Amino acid sequence: MLKKKKTIGIAFAAVFLFGIALILYSAFFPKETTDEFFAMNTYIKSSAVGKDSAVACEKIHTIVNSLDADVLSRQNKNSELAIINSSGGKMSEKMRKYVYEMLEIYNSSNGAFDFALGAVSDLWDFGNAPHLPDEAEIKQALEGSGVNRLSINGDEISTNGAIIDFGASGKGIALDEAKELLSSMKIKNAVISVGGSILLYGDKTFTVGIRNPEGSSGSYVMTVSTPAACISTSGSYEQSFEEGGRVYHHILNPKTGYPVDNGLVSVTVLSDSGLLSDALSTACFVIGVEDGMRLAEKYGCEAVFIDSNKNVTASKGIKNSLKITDSSYSFAE
Ligand code: AMP
Ligand code: MG
Repeated sequence: MLKKKKTIGIAFAAVFLFGIALILYSAFFPKETTDEFFAMNTYIKSSAVGKDSAVACEKIHTIVNSLDADVLSRQNKNSELAIINSSGGKMSEKMRKYVYEMLEIYNSSNGAFDFALGAVSDLWDFGNAPHLPDEAEIKQALEGSGVNRLSINGDEISTNGAIIDFGASGKGIALDEAKELLSSMKIKNAVISVGGSILLYGDKTFTVGIRNPEGSSGSYVMTVSTPAACISTSGSYEQSFEEGGRVYHHILNPKTGYPVDNGLVSVTVLSDSGLLSDALSTACFVIGVEDGMRLAEKYGCEAVFIDSNKNVTASKGIKNSLKITDSSYSFAE
């Protein structure tokens, strides 16, 4: 009898110790989950650490797919954006928020961030069959395009033939939605990348690479160390083609309808907001180093510019956190 009691006692102790070990293990090695998929015309990778990491990655997958298909997609004719582009109407609360935020950036960039150039981008067709359009075609498409053609009144919108395109801000919006979800769950830290836009989430210092403009997607020329932030890079290398000995890329000058040609090859912007980091990286690319630096500062964001001569210009708040790892790049004076 005594022996039986002793055995039960030992069994209880073993279970108890095993439980403690499990708790300690999960405290020191919390569960990590990774998920990769394709949406918003780009590759998406979510990595999360924490008790809820599997559920968080699954929910982010659903949220981003739905943001793409139901709200921002131009391909899906039933998305909210496709309906607005074809017949205008009443914007949802979410759409209204995005449109008003983008309007603000359109104004403060003096029209450089023009989110209604869809017809001009379509002509170049960077995503499918990139080619140099006729000059007359560009002129005609440009005349029917631009934010100045939009009529916006409260939550009513009409595009008057222009085509709204979230190519420059949708990736950042996806990060904002992912961040909102993560903050409602038990997640220690996470890194969510949507194309060239990355959400760094959690209470730690992250070190990320800024892509080599001349290399493959995995290679970088410098690293940046930062607490939690959204970091977006707009690069001429993302979508480009060569014709007649010239390289054409997807970031357009709204005044001409042709790719921006100011010597920049990439601009990276860090912000608490995904939408801001994404939209401003495109806007700063269009307006160049001096004006871009001012624009980033106006929004309290940090920015890193790289030009085709491998000069790096960084805002004051980030320069000391940058480490150039490719010695052919250097800080501009
Ligand atoms: P990103 O990769 O975020 O810099 O966005 C580039 C995409 O934004 C392009 O592929 C176009 O869809 C769109 N775009 C091109 N030029 C502009 C511009 N000047 N303002 C806003 N969006 C633009
Ligand atoms: Mg952008």
